[in-house]
Amino acid sequence: MRARCPQATSVTTGFVRRSSPSHSGSWPVTERLRSGADVLVIGGGIHGLSTALHLARAGVRVTVLEAEYCGRHASGVNAGGVRTLGRHVAEIPLALASRTLWHGLQDVLGEDGGFVASGQLKLAENDAELQECQRRVEQLHALGFTHEVLIDRQQVLELVPTVAPHVVGGIWVGGDGYAVPYHTVTAFRLAAQRLGVRVLEQTPALRIERSATHWRVETRSGVLQAEHLVVTAGAWAAQLAAQVGEPVPVHPQGLMLMVTHRVAPFCAPVLGATGRALSFKQFANGTVVIGGKLVGSVEFAARHGEVQMDRLSTSARTVTDLFPHLRNLGVNRVWAGVEAFTADDIPVIGASCKTDKLSYSFGFCGSGFQMGPGTGQRLAQQILGEPSPISLDPFSIGRFAQSATTLEQPATSLIHS
Ligand SMILES: Cc1cc2nc3c(=O)[nH]c(=O)nc-3n(C[C@H](O)[C@H](O)[C@H](O)COP(=O)(O)OP(=O)(O)OC[C@H]3O[C@@H](n4cnc5c(N)ncnc54)[C@H](O)[C@@H]3O)c2cc1C
Repeated sequence: MRARCPQATSVTTGFVRRSSPSHSGSWPVTERLRSGADVLVIGGGIHGLSTALHLARAGVRVTVLEAEYCGRHASGVNAGGVRTLGRHVAEIPLALASRTLWHGLQDVLGEDGGFVASGQLKLAENDAELQECQRRVEQLHALGFTHEVLIDRQQVLELVPTVAPHVVGGIWVGGDGYAVPYHTVTAFRLAAQRLGVRVLEQTPALRIERSATHWRVETRSGVLQAEHLVVTAGAWAAQLAAQVGEPVPVHPQGLMLMVTHRVAPFCAPVLGATGRALSFKQFANGTVVIGGKLVGSVEFAARHGEVQMDRLSTSARTVTDLFPHLRNLGVNRVWAGVEAFTADDIPVIGASCKTDKLSYSFGFCGSGFQMGPGTGQRLAQQILGEPSPISLDPFSIGRFAQSATTLEQPATSLIHS
């Protein structure tokens, strides 16, 4: 049986809500109850910056420590898919809440991160796959989720007229889309900084420890203290969790992408496939980004993902099977980014089960870009002690308490300077 850590009771908050005219907008405004209360966030990817932004909107003083530069890893180099389609059932409420924020990003950030509500479509290439799609949609409907819709071949052709004739239908989600990853992360950083968040790049957290009253974070330039600590360090987060005796089985993988030369517009929605790995989108400039959780390799200590060309060529073949007219289209660039995968394919989000005033958000298993806005908001609410209809219990780090193995590495190997 899995150990659970009841999230609501494990968070003690040093912050209290009150109304104040100091920030504009309709979001709640709070101030610190106790002097010196503040939050340190470790990791300047979309999850760290989104959490920092939402805390700052509530009037909390936040500092973000980033080992390299914000958006350097998964958040800045991913495929940009804003996808609720095909999510693990546990993630759906949070992913749908996040999608609402994507649609209003302009209001929150002052820019939209290049978000396009193009819709996402998962193709079925034969009857067996179509039946699989049907079962999935029925399962979701039985759970009360109606965002995924089964469509037939004719409806697919209306959305993507150039698709190969063997496609028999698929699942369509109209409110999904895509965005430009690095623009989005930068927009989150700038919006957070405008609200007073301090962002310290080139500042790896080397060691974390809890004193009687505060968290102490050791960096190359000294020790920083905060009342509350948030670990959003992506593939490296488990190393920090291990330092407080909370091991979690997270393994890093190098996910690969390729981008083609420009081609005339032929496909508006983001496409995936049912029976094989594919994520495929054409940007406004005509280039096509091709991925779909294609696994390359990773040099973890060097913080580097590596491309495996043979595996990429399989993916290119999937694309030309579906769009034969792309057969002679050139590939312009390929790359790999380092992503954190958990043993059960869903992330760790929420309060520590071991220590007070420590929160986590990591292990998004190749799908965390879409979750960034909503998860940051939800985690900030939890830290502030605000109620939410979205439970974080499925994501508790406590679920690994009895089975965890971890990447046993000394704290000093976190960063190689
Ligand atoms: C190639 C690829 C394609 C993807 N495509 C999609 C997609 O289409 N849609 C989607 O939803 N998701 C996608 N993902 C997944 C998504 O990018 C990630 O789930 C998400 O960006 C994770 O964000 P994060 O903030 O948790 O981690 P990261 O972006 O990895 O950020 C963590 C940050 O923490 C910093 N850090 C680490 N250790 C320390 C330390 N000790 N001190 C200070 N800072 C530290 C790192 O330098 C890093 O900047 C893709 C991922 C990859 C790699």
